[in-house]
Amino acid sequence: MDLQQAAALLHAARRVVVMTGAGVSAESGIPTFRDALNENGLAGHWARFKPQDLASPEAYWRDPETVWDWYAGRYRDVTAASPNAGHALIARLERRKLAQHGEGAFTLVTQNVDGLHLRAGSRPPLELHGNLTHGRCEACETVQPLPAPETFVPPPTCTRCGSRMRPNVVWFGEMLPQDVLEAAQLAFERADVALVIGTSSQVYPAAGLAGETLRRGGTVTEINPDETPFTPHASFSLRATAGVGLAALMGEQD
Ligand code: NAD
Ligand code: ZN
Repeated sequence: MDLQQAAALLHAARRVVVMTGAGVSAESGIPTFRDALNENGLAGHWARFKPQDLASPEAYWRDPETVWDWYAGRYRDVTAASPNAGHALIARLERRKLAQHGEGAFTLVTQNVDGLHLRAGSRPPLELHGNLTHGRCEACETVQPLPAPETFVPPPTCTRCGSRMRPNVVWFGEMLPQDVLEAAQLAFERADVALVIGTSSQVYPAAGLAGETLRRGGTVTEINPDETPFTPHASFSLRATAGVGLAALMGEQD
């Protein structure tokens, strides 16, 4: 398959699902997971930690203050960042498909926890790994937005019961929210066309979802500047950044 064919299939598709990973937010200045690892851990104060050592339930129960400090910093960073051209094109594709083919014609599934899709004008995406702009009560499980970064002093407390809240993200070794995962699976099963953008396709179960689209006869286009383990399976692979690749695939060169 070539770019023209992939573009034509996307244009004609009545059901589209888009899966995004950290690469989609890279051009907003938010480091990908791999970038963080390539630096051999994290920058500055956090240099002595590996991300895995902070993003785990064990780390949190051992040292909630340190883990909350790290998340508070990431929360400040994502709040200060702006959505980029890739986010904007995904929101535009969503509006177009919904207008043409109605509810159910477009589903956005993301592994990102930065909330940038919503800020770019997308409907609330299926967030497989939660969202670090929210906390979840350790006692009553209520999910609440964190206070504004300027006033936020971690850890946050639940406004309902006064207990401490944890970051509302899925950590290493934790289950994905079942209802979100099932909705994502259904979207991939039903899709004529799936786009897999800016993910290293190494974190399961997210990485396995596009296989469902292929098994049911749909096509999957990958957009990523680098090869991934999924590349050999993709119907078409666009070696480009999210914004550039989407513009080419959607026929928008502006
Ligand atoms: P990853 O870091 O493992 O992989 C990022 C991928 O993006 C790589 O394949 C890379 O080649 C590609 N990439 C880099 N720049 C790009 C660009 N400009 N356009 C398109 N692609 C680009 O990320 P992942 O696959 O999402 O998995 C990492 C895990 O870490 C996820 O679970 C996610 O929740 C979490 N995470 C989230 C964020 C975020 O919310 N922004 C950031 C870092 C990590
Ligand atoms: Zn509570």
